[in-house]
Amino acid sequence: MSQRDYLEKDYYKVLGVDKNADQAEIAKAYRQLARQYHPDANPDNGDAEARFKEIGEAYQVLSDPEKRAEYDQVRDLMGSGAFRGGPGAGAGYGGFGGGGFGGGGYAGGGQAFDLGDLLGDMFSEGAGRGGAATGFGAPPRGRTQAGRRGRDVETDLTLSFEDAMAGVTTTLRVSGPAECRTCGGSGARPGTQPQTCGTCGGGGVVTRDAGMFGFSEPCPACGGRGVQITDPCTTCAGSGTETRSRDIRARIPAGVRDGARIRLKGKGEAGQHGGPPGDLYVTVHVSEHELFGRRGDDLTLRVPVTFTEAALGTKLRVPTLDGAVTVKVPAGTQSGKTLRVRGRGAPKSGGSYGDLLVTVEVVVPRKLSRTQKKMLEDYAATEPDDLRSHLDAVVAEREGRGS
Ligand SMILES: [Zn+2]
Ligand SMILES: [Zn+2]
Repeated sequence: MSQRDYLEKDYYKVLGVDKNADQAEIAKAYRQLARQYHPDANPDNGDAEARFKEIGEAYQVLSDPEKRAEYDQVRDLMGSGAFRGGPGAGAGYGGFGGGGFGGGGYAGGGQAFDLGDLLGDMFSEGAGRGGAATGFGAPPRGRTQAGRRGRDVETDLTLSFEDAMAGVTTTLRVSGPAECRTCGGSGARPGTQPQTCGTCGGGGVVTRDAGMFGFSEPCPACGGRGVQITDPCTTCAGSGTETRSRDIRARIPAGVRDGARIRLKGKGEAGQHGGPPGDLYVTVHVSEHELFGRRGDDLTLRVPVTFTEAALGTKLRVPTLDGAVTVKVPAGTQSGKTLRVRGRGAPKSGGSYGDLLVTVEVVVPRKLSRTQKKMLEDYAATEPDDLRSHLDAVVAEREGRGS
């Protein structure tokens, strides 16, 4: 069978089946016709004999998915007028006329196709695959392109410390390619449906014979999507996307940290021509709190205490994120000592909480009243004089050596 046969013969018509007929229907039609026109049943009938041959030829092509795919491609191109070349090929483009997109984007559709190039691409294996796909894309089904995954989108979100601790549901505004609201992303004009691709039968893959090798590749007629749009949406010209800003509801988990990057799957740019959407990545910035700091899942809090509180011990009432808690400062607590309050820190995934780390800082009075001064002088007289004995020894040694 030659390419010329493909162009000239309508095998579907020969077998009396629909272009979308499945293999079982094709086999059934063939068996019936073959019985009817078999030479044994029609002795000396030249017409029946010719018909019988024709039926066999049609079945040979249509029963083989690879041959059938090639046949369909050739016929599709022929039907589009591509083989006739020139601006006359415009018949199939009616669907694009309406929308604002129509003019520029598809003006190229009327270009002359070179039959030799197209067939060369189709039937010569190896080189020129990309070219073939482009060639198939143009004709009448609508501009068929492989579904392309939408791009990932990055965005930033700044939260107050409290919101980051509590978790929030917020709205992010993102602009860029989004699902077309006219067609809901299908690319088909409202009221119409994308049709199952006749070339690959909806599987999105075709296999080609190339002598010793068979090649599986994305169906060039539908770009691997398995469907074709016969009547494109005029808003998006069949791409299924339009550029606009959209609001995305995002749930930010409690305890989110400054710098966290949250992935919202499928919330990025919409995919074109049926491709999947990209993801949205949200980088979270958390404002500082006037009181609390953060160390991992723990919150930190600095609490000034007086010398006497540290020396005598005390109970402090300190704030937590959403309330207050009593912290016991033992007698003799040193300045800079950190006391841990369990479970009053930041929320952790899994529902538990980190700790609150309370660091006490002894504050020395900058000014003393006369009475205070007298009392401290009396107290000082009772203080030990060996506080720095380990240093005094070193100093004495160095001064003794130096003199
Ligand atoms: Zn649309
Ligand atoms: Zn297909």
